[in-house]
Formats: sequence, C-alpha cells, structure tokens
Amino acid sequence: MSLSRMLENWSRLNQRDYYKDEPIMWGMSIDLNKCTGCASCVTACNAENNIPAVGKEKCGSGHTMSWMRIERYWDLPEGEADLAVEDSEYPERGAHFAPMMCQQCNHAPCEPVCPVAATYHTPDGLNAQVYNRCIGSRYCGTNCPFKVRYFNFFDYQEDIPHPMEMLLNPDITVRSKGVMEKCTFCVQRLRNAKGDQADKGIRGHVEDGAVQTACQQSCPTDAIVFGNLKDETSKVSHAWESHGVELNRHEQFNAEGERGYRVFEELNVEPSVMYLDRVRDTNA
Ligand code: SF4
Repeated sequence: MSLSRMLENWSRLNQRDYYKDEPIMWGMSIDLNKCTGCASCVTACNAENNIPAVGKEKCGSGHTMSWMRIERYWDLPEGEADLAVEDSEYPERGAHFAPMMCQQCNHAPCEPVCPVAATYHTPDGLNAQVYNRCIGSRYCGTNCPFKVRYFNFFDYQEDIPHPMEMLLNPDITVRSKGVMEKCTFCVQRLRNAKGDQADKGIRGHVEDGAVQTACQQSCPTDAIVFGNLKDETSKVSHAWESHGVELNRHEQFNAEGERGYRVFEELNVEPSVMYLDRVRDTNA
C-alpha cells in the first residue's frame, strides 16, 4: 500500500470492525499459572527474529533491545501490597511472571502518531512495522502504553564476528540504526504458513496449529497458545471464550472461575493478547 493511500485511509483503518470480514485475526493466550519465568520464550524470540544481544552496559544506559521480556510480580497478601516498597524483593512470598511483548492492539495508539505511517494495521490483525519507512521519530514508543517498542541506537550487526552472521535467520531482516522495532507475532512464519496453505489450494485460512510463534514453540509448559481468533474451533478462541474475554469489550466482567483479562483494557486499545491470571493463596 502506498504512503498516500495509507494516510488517506487512516481514519477508516482505525475504525472498529473495519476488517470484520477478514477470515483471520491472530491472537494469543498466556496462562500465568503455567509460566515459570524460565525465559525460554525470550531466547527463542531473540534467535528467531535476529535480535541483537546488546549487553548489560547498553541496557543500563537505556538501550535495551528485546521484543519479549519477563515481568516479575511479588505475590503479596492483600493489605501488604499497599505497603510494598518500590524495587524491593519479597522472595519469601514468591513471585509470578508475565511474558510481555507487543499486544498487537486493534486500536493501537502507536499507529496514528507515526508521521510517516511506518506502523500500520494489517487485515489479519497485526500491528506491522515498515522498517524502510521508519525515520526514528520514536513517537510510537512514547505512545505505547506497554513500552514494548525498541529503538536501534546502533548498527548492532556490524559487531557480529565472522562467521557468527551465519546464525542469523534468513527469513527476517536485520534492522539498522535509527529504526524502531518490536514483536511481530513472528510474521515471517505466518506468511509462510499462508503460502503453504495457498499451495494446497486453501485460501484465506490457516489450519489451527499449522503455525506457531517462536515463543509458543519453545515454552516448556505450553503456557502460550496462538492462533486465529476468528476460527471458532481454534484453541486460542476456545481459551478466550472459556475465560470470558471478548474482542470489542474493553472491560471484562469475569464470572467465578474465569481468569482471563487483557492488560490495560480500560484504555480501549483492544489488545490481541489475553492473560490468564495466576491463582495463589497469598494468605496461607
Ligand atoms: S517459556 Fe513459557 S514458562 Fe518460560 S517464561 Fe516463557 S511463557 Fe513462561
């Protein structure tokens, strides 16, 4: 799509239900009861998507680069949580972990602020990033409530010692200095899967389980489920439905036993990632 066409259609692209007739909308479910915080998903994501290891020093100076991170929350009993001291640790209480990456918002706040339309919404529900178009304004990173967009402050690939560049995934570009990047739900795998189905004569549909994201594939506890939310028979649709989470509803009203929620639902950004709350008796 040309830049002028995209700018012209911007308001329509952001309208609710604009892509309602599309057969695929990719979504995810992450069960925090199953997540052990092992970070296999982070490692798999780094390897699959050619994400540079920037090191402790650069992370310390705000140049972190990681499309996926594991957030840690201490399980404090009610009442004690209000007294928790910021940056303190409570190992005796235990913790739970939440893998956090781009939530592929359907009303993405990063999209309308990009001055060159480098980030836009695809018909199958992805918040896409066009690296060649990005001018590095970083407005998208500022406007993202989840803080999951990362900026290339350096040309990291220049530091890869020969022959280590052979380890790069050829299906994915290596980003250069001045460009913003983030999780794509492994778009290269999604496009390959669509192509494979088209070769078999199936158009507009990808069988459930025919494609996995790298994080899902590497998770030893199967905490991550990924698939087409518009396919009522898919595992991910079933997970959303059985935990009372729906698209186009920006506050969940969970019945007893339903653990589903989306982060920052109240902002009406319509994330495509549902989390299942961790259950633990912190008063025991
Ligand atoms: S790989 Fe699975 S268990 Fe490990 S941190 Fe990621 S989601 Fe959690």
